[in-house]
Amino acid sequence: LEPAYSFMIRTRTPGGVVSPSQWLQLDAVATTFAERGLRVTTRQAFQFHGVIKRELKATMQAINAALIDTLAACGDVNRNVAVAPNPLQPEVHTEVFALANAVSEHLLPATRAYYEIWLDDERVGGDAEADRIYGEAYLPRKFKIGFAVPPLNDVDVFAQDLGFIAIIENGAIVGYNVSIGGGMGASHGDAETYPRLADVVGFVTPDQVIAVAEAVVTAQRDWGNRTVRKRARLKYTIDDHGLDAFKAEVERRAGLVFAPACAFAFDHNGDRFGWTEAGDGRAHLTLRILSGRIWDQDGLRHQSGMRAIAQALLEADGVQLRLTPNQNLVIANVPAAQRAQIDALVAEYGLDTHVAASPLKRAALACVALPTCGLAMAEAERYLPEFVEKFEQLLDRHGLLDQPIHLRLSGCPNGCSRPYLAEVALVGKAPGRYNLMLGADHRGQRLNTIYRENVDEAAIFDSLDPLLASFAAERAHDEHFGDFLVRTGVVRDRRISLEVAA
Ligand code: SF4
Repeated sequence: LEPAYSFMIRTRTPGGVVSPSQWLQLDAVATTFAERGLRVTTRQAFQFHGVIKRELKATMQAINAALIDTLAACGDVNRNVAVAPNPLQPEVHTEVFALANAVSEHLLPATRAYYEIWLDDERVGGDAEADRIYGEAYLPRKFKIGFAVPPLNDVDVFAQDLGFIAIIENGAIVGYNVSIGGGMGASHGDAETYPRLADVVGFVTPDQVIAVAEAVVTAQRDWGNRTVRKRARLKYTIDDHGLDAFKAEVERRAGLVFAPACAFAFDHNGDRFGWTEAGDGRAHLTLRILSGRIWDQDGLRHQSGMRAIAQALLEADGVQLRLTPNQNLVIANVPAAQRAQIDALVAEYGLDTHVAASPLKRAALACVALPTCGLAMAEAERYLPEFVEKFEQLLDRHGLLDQPIHLRLSGCPNGCSRPYLAEVALVGKAPGRYNLMLGADHRGQRLNTIYRENVDEAAIFDSLDPLLASFAAERAHDEHFGDFLVRTGVVRDRRISLEVAA
């Protein structure tokens, strides 16, 4: 008898977009093969946890039957491409999503092994053909791409290795500002590793996007550090070679010269909940999903509720279910005639958690951490509800319960929940102990800073208590907590420069 190995499977779902029919198929996969329901990741993918080894192949085939794959969802390749779920501008979403999907397809590894191993595409192994994008040795490290649509920075575009920021004039996309070199991961106690925000290097037209994506990926393939794995991400390549040199190499490979970046402004990197109108008779509903976990457990019936909603919308033309990079869910393109029905189902199954939740709880993120992630040093997802409740009590004591403070928990410094972009972040060091990080902004344009190292819950709240007291007494009108901490010198300013042509 071998040990009862179990696995996590993650989908490649660019922009987190699936149809109601695909949702029902993935729901059946989760019910049949996985534990703990469906989980929405911060890269707009589904994760299935606890799939046992002997059912791996059947699970992969069931996912593939939904016309969804898991190809390049892990490994040293381009990962799931993130796209602003954008319920505010439907035509823009359609265009950006199509381009992001094309980038995802273009950067897929050429290997047939995935199909041979999981989908019985016969021959397994044999002569490997050189991959046009990935060569013989793939990338030095994983690679992440995100598409943002101002004024929302819900994809945290500056946390991506490669970002495209849509520039819209008179309602139409004229092109994209390109940002390179973002990344969240770090290692405790290793100054050679650090989170870094991307630099905006210029503007390209939509027809140049794929060439730029290929040029950045292949330049990183050839220039990236293959000796020290912890220094292998693009952000270190850029810091080692210099931004100008890397940019010139990308231009050479893409056969273009970046135009000067266009002006843009982000106002927010969270989601907006409830209904938004599309102006064409359709509407979009954004639902809060705590830690992205959609399940029927702990008194919740969210998995059943989403199943009922997907069934109700099965025949509706153009409906999409979009995962958000903040682990939430947009039910998009709902016909006006079905809005009341969806409202009734949302209420029946308790999916309207955003209505009563505090701003703190609505925006909070947590990576999966224990017990699922082998790299976790501390709890995150399982600890989030308890920590939020205590944090809310502290905020209430200071009359700050209505403050939209961005909180992110991470079980280790790899930063899957993008903790270094939170106003308050806990980054796991050991069971029950975290680095307390403070001072990011609400736009995803400023990193936070370590405020207390390796502290337990009591010390975290002891640290926050006087800061919140000062914030309550001295904050400027509409000032956010992170901005206040920087203005008053509690933490240093780690904002990126976004100077672009007016
Ligand atoms: Fe990612 Fe670390 Fe959290 Fe695991 S524990 S999900 S590697 S941040």
